[in-house]
Amino acid sequence: MQTIDTENFSAIVFFTGAGMSAESGVPTYRGKGGIWGSYSIDEYACQKAFERDPEKVLGFHEKRRRSVLDCEPHGGHRVIAGMPGVRVVTQNIDGMHQRAGSRDVIELHGSLWRLRCQKCGSRKEDYNESYESTRCDCGNWLRPDIIWFGDMLDAVVMNRASAVIASCDLFISVGTSGVVWPAAGFPDLAKQSGAYCIEINPEPSGASEYDRVIVGNAGEVLPELFSES
Ligand code: NAD
Repeated sequence: MQTIDTENFSAIVFFTGAGMSAESGVPTYRGKGGIWGSYSIDEYACQKAFERDPEKVLGFHEKRRRSVLDCEPHGGHRVIAGMPGVRVVTQNIDGMHQRAGSRDVIELHGSLWRLRCQKCGSRKEDYNESYESTRCDCGNWLRPDIIWFGDMLDAVVMNRASAVIASCDLFISVGTSGVVWPAAGFPDLAKQSGAYCIEINPEPSGASEYDRVIVGNAGEVLPELFSES
C-alpha cells in the first residue's frame, strides 16, 4: 500500500464514525449487529423516553457503558494516538480514542462518560462501570451527555469541528457511512477548503469528495497507511 508521509502535511484531521470502533467490538449503528436493530429508539434514545422513565433510560446507557468497557482500542486507534499534533473529530460516544491516548478529540455527539443536568446545566464526568450518581446536586435527574435522536448538536462543538476541518490539509475519514447530518457535510467542507481527502471503509460511502478511497478495515489499514510515519 502507498503510505502517507505525515511530514508533507501541517494539519491532519481524522474524522471517525462507528466503524472505527467496530473491530474493538463496539456495535455500529447501521447494518449487521447495529444496536438499534435490537433496541427501540423511542424507548431508550430520545428525550421523551428519558422524561417518561429516566431510570430505564439510564439503566440502558449503563449497559452500553459496560459493554464498551469490555472492549479495547485497536491498532488503528493507537496509530492515530501516536501521531503528534493530529486532531480527531469523532461521531463516536465511546471514548475509545481517548483510551488509546488521543488528547485532541472533538466529540460531536457527546460522550457516554459524561452526564448533564438539564435544569442547572452542570456536567459531570463519570468513568465508573455504574453511574456514581444519577442525580445532580440541584436534585434534578442527570441525563447522558450524548446526542439522542431529535436532539440538536451543540453549536459550540460544531463550530470548533468546522473550524478545525476547514483549516486542515489532510482529512481522513474512517468508518462512517456519511449519512448522519450535519457531520455528513464535513468531507465536502474539507475538500472545498483544499484538503487532500482519504476514506477508509470496507464499504465506501461513494462520496465524490475523496481523492483516495481505501477499501478495508480501520484496524488493518491505518497501521499500514502510516507505517513510515
Ligand atoms: P454507521 O453505523 O452509520 O456506519 C458505520 C460505517 O462503518 C459503515 O460505513 C461501515 O461500512 C463502516 N465500517 C464497519 N466496520 C468497519 C471497520 N472495521 N473499519 C472501518 N469502517 C468500518 O456509523 P456513523 O456513520 O458513525 O453514524 C452512526 C451514528 O451512531 C453516529 O452518530 C454515532 O454517534 C453513533 N454511534 C456511535 C457508536 C460508538 O460510539 N462507537 C456506535 C454506534 C453508533
